[in-house]
Amino acid sequence: MKKKLVVRSGNVLKRKALRFAAALLAALASFVGGPNAALAQAPQHHDQVPGFYRQKVGDLEVTALFDGHGVFDPHWLNGTKATMDGVVEALNEDPRLLDVSDEGFLVNTGKQLILVDAGAGTWWGGGALGRLLGSLRSAGYTPEEVDIVLVTHLHSDHVGGLTTDDGKRVFPNAEVYVAKAESDFWLSPEIAAKAPKDAQPFFQSAQAIAAPYIKAGKWHTFSGSEPIVDGMHLVPLPGHTPGHTGYEFSSKGQRILFWGDIIHAQRVQLQHPEVTAIFDIDQNAAAATRLLLLPRLAREHVLIAGPHMPFPALGTLRKEGSGYSWVPVVFTDQWEARAFNAK
Ligand SMILES: [Zn+2]
Repeated sequence: MKKKLVVRSGNVLKRKALRFAAALLAALASFVGGPNAALAQAPQHHDQVPGFYRQKVGDLEVTALFDGHGVFDPHWLNGTKATMDGVVEALNEDPRLLDVSDEGFLVNTGKQLILVDAGAGTWWGGGALGRLLGSLRSAGYTPEEVDIVLVTHLHSDHVGGLTTDDGKRVFPNAEVYVAKAESDFWLSPEIAAKAPKDAQPFFQSAQAIAAPYIKAGKWHTFSGSEPIVDGMHLVPLPGHTPGHTGYEFSSKGQRILFWGDIIHAQRVQLQHPEVTAIFDIDQNAAAATRLLLLPRLAREHVLIAGPHMPFPALGTLRKEGSGYSWVPVVFTDQWEARAFNAK
């Protein structure tokens, strides 16, 4: 009696196991391509990961903040006829050749929270740019926490995020620093009046963006190598604009340069550093500055934060042929692996 029961329950188990195996096989078959209405109806998610990326540089925590994405027009580049014919030809094969990004960066020194460039806000035609504030909040910070803003230059894709379109300061507690040559140029009504019509919007936006900080006594200029932040020195990079300035931070032997608009179209200008952009006010000086800077950065293996490089816009340069290649920081979620190791 007992034995019979055991045999019967054994058969039940076997039947159950067979049913389970059949169900599993059916599920697997649908997974590898069979019809399954439920899977086909899963909605596509059009949002993206939050637009920030953290990088360790010595004791500094650098956070790249995504502001937006755009496409550079080939007519905005100046090079020899042969180089520019090559660019136009390459664009036919590779329409993404001139894709660019816009970014700003936070540096948390442990004592101060510093923003380097502020994105476009609502001052660059709207639409594709102006996400920096959202990225900053996603990164766990508030605009009130920013102590200092260092601006590389006063084009609105770098300072638009400082001020709302109705003239309010977005970073109410921040002291803003900019080169005197830069501030004097863009904020001068006399120079603005003589500027070509195409350049007028740059002057108007710079003046409107600076106004509430000037009024609050929070607009500061530098003209030499004044100390502003411990462990940071100013790197004049003239040409793109009169007071275009880089900010180089060091910590524990590691260095990062926030280089502003040294490069716009990285896939063209790194191979052809002599190619300039029409936005470079002094074309010769912009090319000379780039030709001088790039070899040093490649040789010294300095980490670069480039507002128009592909997100997270952090990387180093490697000499390649007559130009350079970009070695990007690669996404990882492991904080220790994010240490930037000087060569
Ligand atoms: Zn720019």
